[in-house]
Amino acid sequence: MTQTRRKKGNNVTLSSPISLIEGLGPKRVEAFARLGVFTLEDMFFLMPRRYEDRRNPKPIASLMPGTTDCTTGTVSEIATSYGKTEAEITDSTGSAGIVWFTDKIGHFLHEGMRIAVYGQLSDRYIVPKFTHPEFEILKRGAIPELIGKIFPIYPGTAELTQKIIKKFVALTLDKYSEQCLKEFLPQRVLERYGMMSFREAITQIHGPSDELSFVKARNRLAFDEFFLLQAGVIMRRNSQDGQEKAQILVPGEKSGLFMRSLPFGLTGAQERACGEIIADMQKPKAMNRLLQGDVGSGKTIVAVIAMLAACDSNAQAAFMAPTEILAQQHYLKLEKLLAPLGLKVALLTGSLKTSARKRLLDEIYCGNVNIVVGTHAIFSEDVDFLNLALVIVDEQHRFGVLQRGALIAKGKMPHVLTMTATPIPRTLILSVYGDLEVSVLNELPPGRQKIRTISLKPSGFRKVPKMIHEHISRGEQVYWVCPMIDEGERDLASVNDTCERLREILPEARIAVLHGRLPVEEKSAVMQEFAAGNIDVLVATVVIEVGVDVPNATMIVIEDAGQFGLAQLHQLRGRVGRGKAASVCVLLENQDITPEGRERVNALVENSDGFELAEEDLRQRGAGEICGTHQHGVTDFRVADFLRDEKILALARDEAKELLERDPELRSEPALRSEIVRRLGGVLELAATS
Ligand code: ADP
Ligand code: MG
Repeated sequence: MTQTRRKKGNNVTLSSPISLIEGLGPKRVEAFARLGVFTLEDMFFLMPRRYEDRRNPKPIASLMPGTTDCTTGTVSEIATSYGKTEAEITDSTGSAGIVWFTDKIGHFLHEGMRIAVYGQLSDRYIVPKFTHPEFEILKRGAIPELIGKIFPIYPGTAELTQKIIKKFVALTLDKYSEQCLKEFLPQRVLERYGMMSFREAITQIHGPSDELSFVKARNRLAFDEFFLLQAGVIMRRNSQDGQEKAQILVPGEKSGLFMRSLPFGLTGAQERACGEIIADMQKPKAMNRLLQGDVGSGKTIVAVIAMLAACDSNAQAAFMAPTEILAQQHYLKLEKLLAPLGLKVALLTGSLKTSARKRLLDEIYCGNVNIVVGTHAIFSEDVDFLNLALVIVDEQHRFGVLQRGALIAKGKMPHVLTMTATPIPRTLILSVYGDLEVSVLNELPPGRQKIRTISLKPSGFRKVPKMIHEHISRGEQVYWVCPMIDEGERDLASVNDTCERLREILPEARIAVLHGRLPVEEKSAVMQEFAAGNIDVLVATVVIEVGVDVPNATMIVIEDAGQFGLAQLHQLRGRVGRGKAASVCVLLENQDITPEGRERVNALVENSDGFELAEEDLRQRGAGEICGTHQHGVTDFRVADFLRDEKILALARDEAKELLERDPELRSEPALRSEIVRRLGGVLELAATS
């Protein structure tokens, strides 16, 4: 047994399982797994939730009731009663009471012993009295464990007490830190910022010697995360630079025809974005641009103008949407706009029948189709384009940022325009996307009115049918969004229930339901009927969350609003306010809304600015979910925080840039290179060796 342990110990790495730690049996391994700790790396990076400063035990006389503190003293009295032990400790300044809710303490604690105590002082007494504190018998010549240092407090579980976690973290540090925590940052960087070594930083995080050491340790680890990501992003870009050049796309006859046929003028912001995009596409370097524009700012037209430049240059374009409903809607619109120009638009989704799909793939391959609209099915393996030169990715935050690899795998290097209504904070863009250019539509088409947003408590719910009635009697339309399709285990509003209820209350209204479980044909039929104005109230799940554009809809009711994320609520609200008429968004707070849910609802009521809401969202949810990189692990930082550590991010960026300019393949920094590949290789598609 010991022998196999030692053998394993010889090639222990950060990725080794924690089961090799001595004394960590299968049960504990499972318990740690529930904390997300599987490998030694996870153990090293198990970040304390907070710290307790137990460096300076206080004289008893200065202990304050109602606080948490530590002291030392001599046991002057001890008495045990059923289920309880009471004691008194004394030092030269005074004495304090202690109560433990167990009668076992008296077995080993006696009068005259010196002890250290850490815990809460009851606020029900004027004299200091500890309630069930931790304590330690102080032995002459031995270093106390309980006091005299800054104590880490870990995110524990019922099975894993602080004591157990601390024990195994300490064991891991003791046995494996020398072997596993080898320095990988360049010497120059370490020196320039007087940075702590990797090993020292991890050690200090689990037991800082003082405040400054903690800050230095934390900053070092945050720097690491930004620096490695930045360097990885730059390396990836370098490795792609040599690839096939993109086709030059220039607007021509069809673009001109289209612009003249538009029933409205472009907004200044749209003009600017189009200019930037067209300029990008006239360069041989593939465009990688993000178009950010709040819901309703008119991104689709900008995309159409870009696609027309591709068509005018005898190339194909693909327009990818996150849902079938949205793909369908885009298809119908584009078809209507572009068929008169003699362009062929096709819809390619996962639900196409085999024979129809085959026919369509042939057409795409021959180049008979100019523009393919679809879901991610566009990039299935069997889809081949004759000459794909431009890819538009709509509502990008639903896709994740790292799909360019899949596009490039198609054999060509298309220009890529991603569009999003969820503004991504600048710090995030810079670091995750590296080389991404950004265009912003910071202007809504003229005549739009601000959407009135209100929240209602259950007592106010009965106002809603009357409001709906007013809207539909003016010929306008209404969305009603519920979190569930059917009544389920959780007591949340469901589409089918709500529809029935509404039909009773509003017998005159034409009401339909829409959700993901309906057959595709039915979904698109309902959507078309709604768009045509033949449905007054559409009761739906979040399938309508993004992109759906029916300007005649002027009211949206969101039931159980606390259930939805902030970005999601903002998107949903953006379904209305798309036409000239005044619109309203009604948020229903159900009985058991959580405090966080209420916070989101309030944020939406108070704020109509997508950018500010996005920052709030980032604060509440973290970066990974926002830019869709969560499943890829790119922004799963353990230490760094995009908002709080903006300065460190900037430094890390500069350092990474400078280093990679000097040494694009990191030949002089093999340790750094392998750490980048180890942490990010999979997600950034970096090769292990150059
Ligand atoms: P989003 O940016 O949310 O994708 P859309 O592209 O769906 O917005 O546009 C919202 C609505 O605004 C559409 O009905 C579109 O036809 C209209 N629109 C776009 N640009 C203009 C403009 N410059 N003037 C007037 N209406 C516009
Ligand atoms: Mg859109």
